Amino acid sequence: LCQHSTVGPIETTLCDYETIESVNGELYNTLSELVRTPFFKYFQVDLYRECPYWQENGFCMNRECGITTVDESEIPERWRAAALSKIELPPLEERVPLPGCYYRDSDFCFLDDMTEGEYVDLTLVPERYTGYSGPSAHRVWKSIYEENCFGLSELNLLTSRSPAQVTLPDTLTDVLREPIKGEDVDGECLEKRVYYKIISGLHASISTHICMEYLNQTTGEMGPNLECFVTRVASHPERLQYIYFNTVLLLRAVSRIGPYLRDYDYCSLATSTPHDHILTEDLQEEVKTRATLSEVIDIAEHVGKFDERVLFRGENANILKEEFKAHFRNVSRIMDCVGCDKCRLWGKVQTTGLATALKILFEMDETALDPHKNQNLLQRSEVVALVNTLHRFSESLQFVESFRDMWKKTGESD
Ligand code: FAD
Repeated sequence: LCQHSTVGPIETTLCDYETIESVNGELYNTLSELVRTPFFKYFQVDLYRECPYWQENGFCMNRECGITTVDESEIPERWRAAALSKIELPPLEERVPLPGCYYRDSDFCFLDDMTEGEYVDLTLVPERYTGYSGPSAHRVWKSIYEENCFGLSELNLLTSRSPAQVTLPDTLTDVLREPIKGEDVDGECLEKRVYYKIISGLHASISTHICMEYLNQTTGEMGPNLECFVTRVASHPERLQYIYFNTVLLLRAVSRIGPYLRDYDYCSLATSTPHDHILTEDLQEEVKTRATLSEVIDIAEHVGKFDERVLFRGENANILKEEFKAHFRNVSRIMDCVGCDKCRLWGKVQTTGLATALKILFEMDETALDPHKNQNLLQRSEVVALVNTLHRFSESLQFVESFRDMWKKTGESD
């Protein structure tokens, strides 16, 4: 039996969430395989841009904050800087006057100029506790929520409970039935609320990852920290909902762009050596990548029920969309102010992934989505970010399940 609610693009029925819960195990396993393939594991990123908003001195000196980039020789030739520098960039007048950084009108984020930046093997950089915290981290979150929001007052309206009052619900979907204060804010337009949910959901997903691999100060080992999860996420039921919200949004985008992704060129070593056996391996790799991705698209088509048509309609729709885009682009620039390499990397991957999803949902009509008419719809980094971001959120939902089991065991031993 589905509960219906009238607010927002995915709250039309709680069944959408329930469906996600029922397929998430399969989705997560498939995505985990996919993000280990060469096409999806290498992400090109410029991690060392200046913070454009303030002087950032809070760089994290903790060993856990650093990352190692991949030597270019490990990267398939066609993705290297020399090859990428041949790619046509948009006309100068469409670029913003920031060094090595531009956007097209349709973009929801600033994309790194693909001739700069280095490759990172994402599989070698787990998103987890790094020790980055304090004023620098808070300033970044604050400016994402407040300075770049639509003057949101929602932050103050959110419910908060002390850890002692918290009970983790029996199923993930039970949490979605929790009433949310702040949901019924009069006069808040849908778009502003959606913006807030996306950011809060991202924040909650990052927190879930931190709490799952948290540093135990006594043993020096990394491991799950239930109290961390309860304090940061579970005591605010709406934050869990927003993890779902982002998952559905990303799935819907994958489903919409499905035909294009099914046709995409994943050939990782296309210009490589003439040795037959390598070409065969290369082809096998591509076939595997394509087949795994196809499974993800199948799931997305089944459950990606986000109704983007309810947004950006009516009076002022275009102004709102432009405002929304401008805010999101600022968020992608704020990522340059994150004072920890690993955190900045995942921040950039995920803001690019979410921005790509928004672009797919709100900027592309059916003609644009036709893979035969529009072969250069997305850059490689956008495709990689979209899939890896969906993997992050799907993983968070898996982690929530694990935390729930831990919570039950704590109850049994009391
Ligand atoms: P914070 O998480 O810093 O939150 C600050 C305040 O925001 C809270 O007091 C609360 O009022 C509000 N808030 C918290 N969560 C939400 C939510 N979901 N919705 C709405 N409001 C909320 N640290 C790591 O160890 N590993 C990482 O990989 C990592 N990645 C990061 C990526 C980015 C982009 C940023 C900005 C920070 C990252 N950090 C990372 C730091 C981490 O997010 C926290 O800032 C840090 O752990 C300190 O946590 P805190 O408990 O002080 O609260």
